[in-house]
Amino acid sequence: MIPDESETVLLRPRAFMPEVPCTVRWNRSARARRVSLKISPRDGAVIVTLPIRAARRAGMALLNEHADWVAQRLAAIEPPRPFAPGVTVPIGDVPREIIHAPAQRGGTLLEPGRLVVTGGLEFLPRRVGDFLRAEAGRRIHAAVPPHAQALDVRPAAIRLKDTQTRWGSCAPNGTLAFSWRLVMAPGWVLDYVVAHELAHLRELNHSPRFWALLESRTPHRAAATAWLRANGARLLRIG
Ligand SMILES: [Zn+2]
Repeated sequence: MIPDESETVLLRPRAFMPEVPCTVRWNRSARARRVSLKISPRDGAVIVTLPIRAARRAGMALLNEHADWVAQRLAAIEPPRPFAPGVTVPIGDVPREIIHAPAQRGGTLLEPGRLVVTGGLEFLPRRVGDFLRAEAGRRIHAAVPPHAQALDVRPAAIRLKDTQTRWGSCAPNGTLAFSWRLVMAPGWVLDYVVAHELAHLRELNHSPRFWALLESRTPHRAAATAWLRANGARLLRIG
């Protein structure tokens, strides 16, 4: 796949009088059979996928044809919430207010109801992100052993990613990957995703055998899937 290129395009939807500026990312794909559009839940960019031989013009035509749909989707998207003092970040689904304490030392401290970030303000977003990734790692690593033991599996490695569409994945070589954003979800949702990927080490498919195995480890499948569907877009817009 050729790396993404971005540009800003002014859409002219019929239902909305003003033009709507939108970020378009062009994605050339050898696997794509036709031109398609989707909205990135992470940053609200419109991703236009083009088969190798399709002209960019075809992508623009599709974009203009669906300008109403794109404008409506963009209007409905959650506003981004960058890490800043006063912003609330859920950790294990418990809201914590980011407090900047420039005079204090000790890095980033998780306290009841608050996340205290020391040091200069310019480092605060990065420090909050680092803290959440580390906390995600701690929580995911803590969730693995009981399921791994019961399923008699051992992941080759566990990685944290910032994925947009998948909360977890299992590679054929036994490496599991998880979105660090799961740290913001309730503990039982994180536990479900961990159990799901560990069960793939036994069954690398979504067969009835896989689901039966997974259900032997967690009663939360339906509730966790529904929770992620309802809240996933919000988690993707934080930070
Ligand atoms: Zn799966």
